Amino acid sequence: MVIETRPRPAPISEIDVLNEANECTTDRSVDTKPLSAERAFAFWQKDIPEEYWSLGGEELRDRIALARAKLGERCVVLGHHYQREDIIQFADYKGDSFNLSRWAAEKQDVEYIVFCGVHFMAESADILSAPHQKVILPNMSAGCSMADMADPEDVYACWDELVEAGFADPDGQVVPVTYMNSAAALKAFCGKNGGIVCTSSNAPKVYDWALEGGSKVLFFPDQHLGRNTGLKKGISLDEMVVWDYSLPYGSLGGNTREQLERAKVILWRGWCSVHRRFSVAQIEKARREHPDPDGQAVTVIVHPECTMEVVQAADMDGSTEFITKTITNAPAGSTWAVGTEINLVSRLARENPDKTVFCLDPVVCPCATMYRIHPAYLCWALEELAEGRVVNQVEVDEETARHAKVALERMLSVR
Ligand code: SF4
Repeated sequence: MVIETRPRPAPISEIDVLNEANECTTDRSVDTKPLSAERAFAFWQKDIPEEYWSLGGEELRDRIALARAKLGERCVVLGHHYQREDIIQFADYKGDSFNLSRWAAEKQDVEYIVFCGVHFMAESADILSAPHQKVILPNMSAGCSMADMADPEDVYACWDELVEAGFADPDGQVVPVTYMNSAAALKAFCGKNGGIVCTSSNAPKVYDWALEGGSKVLFFPDQHLGRNTGLKKGISLDEMVVWDYSLPYGSLGGNTREQLERAKVILWRGWCSVHRRFSVAQIEKARREHPDPDGQAVTVIVHPECTMEVVQAADMDGSTEFITKTITNAPAGSTWAVGTEINLVSRLARENPDKTVFCLDPVVCPCATMYRIHPAYLCWALEELAEGRVVNQVEVDEETARHAKVALERMLSVR
């Protein structure tokens, strides 16, 4: 068997994210075009064979189905909710990062896990799966701009400053908590330092766990999920500070000693380019446009990676799994304005024809990095596997995996 591995992709900069968002319009379709006709950010891994570039949707679907059938039970395809329709239709399991990682930990009988999601998810699947299993990411440049905002070197430097200032110590006064959306090295850092991983599904319970073990949480990379979770746990805004990792060593992340002493939560200055687009003005507009005198007014539901102002203005917030279940189980005739990624919102609208479901943001802006899993890449990866060649395997080194697994298993044990 030939195995081809690739290095981790280069981090995604804020400029990349802004450039990609600038290409979004109100009238674009999320339907797939041949890879050669896609927007530039869909094909950053350019070195797949020429023949895949021109394949249209139907041919890709047929070839993926054929390769999938050849592989049979040796292979499973996992699809994150934010994947486009032409990918999710091939997913044996679809879910959020929490459920997909739980699945990877439980089902150890398949040889190949083809992960249609982003790099950190494939890393977590590799850490939690058995040694004989191989995790494949169809496009190695499918990363996450938020995860890249927490460079491990910056987090280690922050920790060193906290130790020097007398806040973090071996007794666990500060408990590091990393969101699932982070590099394996940071999960390992949490595993080594009495910390834990969380997802948007279990963040409040993880805060309980962390604050039983220490007096402060260092939360990275998403300040918004961290702040929204803190507020849910009754932690006030003046007990939460933001650590600005761009400031020089010795600046205490832009905080005074007194602020850090008072803080229960230290938030990393990271954010999600997709969820930061939602605004209170969009919520007000949705409510203005959907007033219903019979009590069927629009319900606004958003993801907790949105800003605090948006989460507080919404009627409900929760993980993609929560949003999916809530809308699926809602009564016929109800109206939902949703603040999360457009592929999931479009799918919910299609799957719930008896309800009105629409995205809060009129601009059709998919998560640019999830979008990099184009069907041409999935087709290529599966056809190679069917021929006995493993391409794009994501492998976490043994030492990192051992420590990261400790933090991930702590997460899985928090119910
Ligand atoms: S939606 Fe946001 S957090 Fe999720 S993968 Fe995309 S950039 Fe990262």
